[in-house]
Amino acid sequence: MLVVGGGPAGADLACGLARAGVSVALVERLQRPEQAAFSSAALPLQALQQFGLPAQVVASRWNGWQLIGPDGQRRQWQQPAVLGAVLDFAALRRWQLQQAAGWGAQVQLGCTALGCQAVDGAMVTTVRQADGRCTGITSSWVVDATGQARTLLGEPDPRAHPLVAGVGLEWLLAVDQPLWEPWSGRLSFMLGSQWVRQGYGWIFPMQPGQLKVGVCRLIDPQQPQPALGRSLETLLARCDLGSATVLDRHGGAIRSTVSRHEPHSRGRLIGLGDAVSTANLLGGEGIRHALASSRTLLPLLLDAIGRQQQGRDEGEQLRALVPYRRLLQKQLGWRWPLSGRLACRTWLGLASNRADRRLERLLRGLEGVRADQLSALLFDYRFERYGWRALPYLLGLR
Ligand SMILES: Cc1cc2nc3c(=O)[nH]c(=O)nc-3n(C[C@H](O)[C@H](O)[C@H](O)COP(=O)(O)OP(=O)(O)OC[C@H]3O[C@@H](n4cnc5c(N)ncnc54)[C@H](O)[C@@H]3O)c2cc1C
Repeated sequence: MLVVGGGPAGADLACGLARAGVSVALVERLQRPEQAAFSSAALPLQALQQFGLPAQVVASRWNGWQLIGPDGQRRQWQQPAVLGAVLDFAALRRWQLQQAAGWGAQVQLGCTALGCQAVDGAMVTTVRQADGRCTGITSSWVVDATGQARTLLGEPDPRAHPLVAGVGLEWLLAVDQPLWEPWSGRLSFMLGSQWVRQGYGWIFPMQPGQLKVGVCRLIDPQQPQPALGRSLETLLARCDLGSATVLDRHGGAIRSTVSRHEPHSRGRLIGLGDAVSTANLLGGEGIRHALASSRTLLPLLLDAIGRQQQGRDEGEQLRALVPYRRLLQKQLGWRWPLSGRLACRTWLGLASNRADRRLERLLRGLEGVRADQLSALLFDYRFERYGWRALPYLLGLR
């Protein structure tokens, strides 16, 4: 078994397979898990518990929200109980890869997969090693966990399964305690076209003295968009963080289809995590969904491997994977495609004073809800339960 990509999805699957006694190799193009730690990595508490993430990957915990609107007004929702965590994404990767290796997976860093093909009932994947040599790895199955790049599975047919793309830029800052304090214990978002046109900004607390500050937007193929770097610098200046020391600069893309109907596998090649559109476009988050895809695929893959070991024919082996897309869709829930449509409407539409005024009305409408209700709205997409006041806005009725 070969897993390509050592992000949250691939590392989790490699660990699960190795733990079940399967011979598994994981190749990851990064030389070190600390490189390009692009994710802001904010998660609700339930995800930490569900996926058994340990304290060592948690940078800070949060128990409230702060939404800063187009007019600069700060609205806060806070409660005593912890609602979630901001992870240290590099520490998460490091821990996951150690876990996988600890259970017996062969983890090769600095190794880039270039392509794969089926040869005589097996898969041959061409990889470039850290020293530049290209070699072939033969395996019964290959998992493409290369994130939104989808290196092996390739792009879905753009007419049938159009990808919606977002791009984000984030800096890790070192700040003095008095500057860190106002942003601690909560997730802060800056909303409005004057902050980020067709997107939003954020400030998340890491350990004391460190903040993650970022901006992202959906890519609008219809119109030119100003450079994100300028939006980030403006945001830093408006939040009095312009003189903070920058420890790291990183960024990345999120690309998902809204319906998630694209093929999730091709023969013995199977997609996982962002490679099959598990990243959510509304909140720009996908770690827990990538992990969910791994937990959904694992038992099916073990079944397929078991059938192979029993000498059943290829068709019988592949049939074990048929429920994968449907089960994953069920796991992500019926609100998923709705949240994708809302993402397009909300972010792409946020490009005028009129849209800012609509957003102001939405923020005012949310003033009466509790912090945990806001979490349910933003992380569980529970528009129908807590967001009735928001729904007409989001559906374009206001
Ligand atoms: C700016 C930004 C902020 C985000 N903030 C959040 C957040 O706050 N909360 C949240 O939950 N999610 C967030 N996300 C999304 C989240 O990080 C992803 O959804 C998640 O990392 C997906 O996991 P994955 O394992 O599917 O893919 P990835 O994490 O992308 O992992 C893919 C891995 O494959 C490797 N790879 C790629 N190509 C090859 C190749 N050819 N050969 C070998 N290896 C290869 C890559 O180096 C990478 O390590 C954010 C994303 C961005 C861009």
